[in-house]
Amino acid sequence: MTNTLSCEIVEDLLPLYHDEVCSIATREAVASHLATCSHCAAALDKLRESSRLPFEVMEKNRREGEGLSSFKKYWHRTRVHSFVKGLLIATAVCGLAVLGYAGLFRWNIIEVPSSVIRISEISRLSNGKIAYRVNITDGYIVNQINGRLDDDGNYYYTPVRPVIKSSKFAELGLGNGYHFFDLEMLNANRTDPSIPIKAIYYGPKDGNPVLIWQQGMELPPAAAAVEAQFHFAD
Ligand SMILES: [Zn+2]
Repeated sequence: MTNTLSCEIVEDLLPLYHDEVCSIATREAVASHLATCSHCAAALDKLRESSRLPFEVMEKNRREGEGLSSFKKYWHRTRVHSFVKGLLIATAVCGLAVLGYAGLFRWNIIEVPSSVIRISEISRLSNGKIAYRVNITDGYIVNQINGRLDDDGNYYYTPVRPVIKSSKFAELGLGNGYHFFDLEMLNANRTDPSIPIKAIYYGPKDGNPVLIWQQGMELPPAAAAVEAQFHFAD
């Protein structure tokens, strides 16, 4: 094919030429025609011009594209959010389960019943404090004792345990050994100074606690072996 194409044929071929979908031979033939024919070259320019998207259209398309991608981002983000939310809920539920499980073993919320409490060897130490021996007879450990003064001047030492109690190291816990209290200090610390402490109990307040001391009670002096338990207590 040589440069023998008529303008009419070239104009027919221009869209193909423009879109670069014609054969190399056609392309070369059109190109050489265009090089010598300003009429067809102008037609090609016109075609190029018209096929070029106006800036506004392109801008609009870009924005729509961005809109789509930001929607995708939003969609992705909400999925991320719900995943994170789900994760947090799962973590919270697991946390509660773990906490609850640990709590059953760790939280000291059950009062030790008076029926397993033995108080003996109540005596007055040489420093004026009152000593007593505690034995929790059920073989389970006690590692927390709550102290509380009621409105009538009764003070309660209440041993407490987790729901799931342990017998491990029970002999080393607070449930077995000598304890003491400092009546002067308890009196100094009470919130209502008008009511002096009149009795000290060991056990649950509402569960028939064991009386250790009450006003007017005379206590024997502590034996040397008991004193020896408290060489660090001053
Ligand atoms: Zn021409």
